[in-house]
Amino acid sequence: MTGLREPVALPASPLLAEGAVLEHLYTGSIWAEGPVWLPALSVLRWSDIPNTRILEFDPATGETHVHRDDVEFTNGRTLDRDGVTTIQCSHGRRAVEAESDGVPRVLIDSFDGVRLNSPNDVVVASDGTIWFTDPDYGITKPEEGHAGVREYGGAYVFRFDPATGELRAVITDRDQPNGLAFSLDESKLYVSDTVDEERARMWVYDVSVATATAGPAREFAHPSTGVSDGFRLDVEGRIWTSAGPGVQVFSPTGELLLSIDVPEAVANVAFGGDGHDLYLTASTSLYRFRTATLPGQRPVVR
Ligand code: MG
Repeated sequence: MTGLREPVALPASPLLAEGAVLEHLYTGSIWAEGPVWLPALSVLRWSDIPNTRILEFDPATGETHVHRDDVEFTNGRTLDRDGVTTIQCSHGRRAVEAESDGVPRVLIDSFDGVRLNSPNDVVVASDGTIWFTDPDYGITKPEEGHAGVREYGGAYVFRFDPATGELRAVITDRDQPNGLAFSLDESKLYVSDTVDEERARMWVYDVSVATATAGPAREFAHPSTGVSDGFRLDVEGRIWTSAGPGVQVFSPTGELLLSIDVPEAVANVAFGGDGHDLYLTASTSLYRFRTATLPGQRPVVR
């Protein structure tokens, strides 16, 4: 497609494939978010939030197509444990929904009898419970949803149990919780708070998935190139995070291991292809580079 930048060589790093380059795969979105690799289709699916549509990139052809239009401002998504169903956040419906066969189904859109704010990003734990963040961007930014107010008053990290329908507020002390991911053993939950440029940080909580509880927040990392929005873990437990116009990689203890510049602000990342590729949803574009690692969490395909 036209308007794409030339590939850019990346610095040599043990975390990257030899000769890795930053590839520009697609341009034409307004604010790209919510990437997930769909192994059954071999495509990378992501959200173009302001255009309220879902796009898919097919690496076999290099083409991007519209998966669905009028999707009520979907944002973050992940793969459910069946390896096929996507669990995604909808700003417009103020809901977390499941999509299979192209048809979204609302899983949860209220807490204590009032509406959620605008679910932003989501992960599925090994017991099948769905953990998501609920900042207010979809009700305060006109281009990202419909105007509204914080009906329950806060902006929480929730755990939804699809088996029982129970929704529990697990983390209630963040301003704008955004990206989230479990450590590989699920004893910790990393949460980015994108409150503002000055105070944005990555936090980590000791958690129990079984009891849906969290200990006190500890500061985890402060990416030097910009705000951490969404992120993923690799098989060694390292955190690959969006970081403004860049991607940064942190060790499980918060040490900066790698920093990669990107021409546009990156919102989120996802491993895909054979697992070594990292896809970046970055403002108007989709980028990719090849790593020397593999994703930390893989779906349990049954
Ligand atoms: Mg986000």
